[in-house]
Amino acid sequence: MDKTKLNQAIWSIPMADRINRLPISETGFPVPWFVAWLDGKPDFRVIGPDKLVQAVKRSLCWTCGQPLGQYKAFPIGPMCAINRTIAEPPSHLECAEYAVRACPFLSNPRMRRNEKDMPAGHQEPAGMMIKRNPGAVCIWVTKEFRVMRDGNGAVFRLGDPTSMTWWAEGRRATRAEVDHSIQTGLPLLRAEAEKEGPEALAMLDRYIARAQRLLPP
Ligand SMILES: [Zn+2]
Repeated sequence: MDKTKLNQAIWSIPMADRINRLPISETGFPVPWFVAWLDGKPDFRVIGPDKLVQAVKRSLCWTCGQPLGQYKAFPIGPMCAINRTIAEPPSHLECAEYAVRACPFLSNPRMRRNEKDMPAGHQEPAGMMIKRNPGAVCIWVTKEFRVMRDGNGAVFRLGDPTSMTWWAEGRRATRAEVDHSIQTGLPLLRAEAEKEGPEALAMLDRYIARAQRLLPP
């Protein structure tokens, strides 16, 4: 990789060898392995054809495309930390840490998802996706997860974490930032559970209690 082509905003972020091997976009960002290329240009909002199947079948890192070890790192929003479900496969820990620091969406809480001009044939990720910027992001590391089919895609149900760290604006998040992110997201989760009925609401309360125990002091 020609590091002089990197965007200045991410110049100083330490880069693992695996990230170093990725191509750089015209805007100066390493292009994650999962990203779709359209007419020779990466579209960071779109998952490449067959990438999900390859990642699951061959146990490849979502960010760099190389084989994973026994520890899998999932960068997830706080709502996913509560219901332990996410629509994207795991990465190496060092790749996930790079992503939460360098990806404009994951590292900057004020960014909004850009859904203008989505290419034809684009499919929404499986599962219930909350389209808001999560504010704080958690890197959930686990040895265990289950893949479940969901329509045309898959959802990943995460096992107990072996470690977890919280991030915001490309640095470690404060407890106040994590709390704020959870409090502003909960009404969305609760509204979904209400549609499903009292059992879903009770389960949500159990999930929230379970998540509270894992938050930073
Ligand atoms: Zn990787």
